[in-house]
Amino acid sequence: MLPTPKSGILDIDLYVPGKSKVPAGVKLHKLSSNESPLGTSPAAIEAAASATNGMELYPDGSATVLREAIAETHGLNPDNLICGNGSDEILSLLANTYLGAGDEAIFTEHGFLVYRIATLAAGGVPVVVEEDNCRTSVDNILEAVTDKTKLVYIANPNNPTGTYLPIDEMRRLHAGLPEHIVLVIDAAYAEYVRRNDYEAGLELVSGNQNVIMTRTFSKIYGLAALRIGWAYGPTHIIEALNRIRGPFNMNAAAIAAGSAAMRDRAFLDAAIAHNDTWLAKVTEELEALGLEVTPSVGNFVLIHFPDDPENNAEAADRYLTDRGYVLRRVTGYGFPNALRMSIGSEEANLGALETLKEFLA
Ligand SMILES: *Cc1c(COP(=O)(O)O)cnc(C)c1O
Repeated sequence: MLPTPKSGILDIDLYVPGKSKVPAGVKLHKLSSNESPLGTSPAAIEAAASATNGMELYPDGSATVLREAIAETHGLNPDNLICGNGSDEILSLLANTYLGAGDEAIFTEHGFLVYRIATLAAGGVPVVVEEDNCRTSVDNILEAVTDKTKLVYIANPNNPTGTYLPIDEMRRLHAGLPEHIVLVIDAAYAEYVRRNDYEAGLELVSGNQNVIMTRTFSKIYGLAALRIGWAYGPTHIIEALNRIRGPFNMNAAAIAAGSAAMRDRAFLDAAIAHNDTWLAKVTEELEALGLEVTPSVGNFVLIHFPDDPENNAEAADRYLTDRGYVLRRVTGYGFPNALRMSIGSEEANLGALETLKEFLA
């Protein structure tokens, strides 16, 4: 008999990353993975390059300079921070730390796919609750809590819907959860949000013992390739996660580049301004084409297509890809007839809009 993966593993569907293939000779505009259209902070590029000196040495296992840069920028205690090989790693560490066999993790129907993967890989049971018109439903999450619930994962704002929960809803969610359940707030898109009723999670973490917030350098900081995530949580959670992470989970280039990127406020401001302008424009133009767009506060929009086979998401995806514009199919997220479009460069945004107009004509 062949070795058999433990229970749960074969229930995991392989994660399919955003495509980046277009026909030969066609210029690629990748709008499928919510990556930065402005590249990377020059200071971060320089820092990564200098990390190639001394590659025979192990990196600092606790990523001290990176935690210090994050702590100073956000006004936090570095002891309450942990860094990961992408925030994906931290989401998995949480599942491995808090889920025993049969324990439940709650997330929403259009939630980030990594929650399901992390839960099943840890031997846990995914409990998927319905959203309310593409928005996380606090009531549905609270109703799904059982004696076995150990974790609640919520992305705020959520990917791929782009919707968010205001701070009062987050407080209500936390208040309704028993103290022994860990509330994981995945704030991968926090920097983009321009709403005064939004709070990334710092407040809930600071005031409680059962909340952790995860963040990433993959999106607005333009460092997806180096895989850098971080989390802010109470000491007892950070200490537990530190016990099971790889002792050198952060490589030296990631530590150096992340620290420099965190201190480059001008790059961040430019990225925020670019997104503000184009998120509004892209949304407006798509609506002018007669498409339904879920209102987004992130760096992407979810576009819903008409039901007819000529004009549906699959046909649109083919038409766009043939012309170099690669958006994201979101069937795996429960949206068989929608595409997610990342906010790209001016050229990519305008080109994708023009191509969609042709497609629908
Ligand atoms: C992109 C994304 C992340 C970031 O993952 P990394 O592993 O840090 O690259 C986390 N959560 C959500 C919801 C995302 O869309």
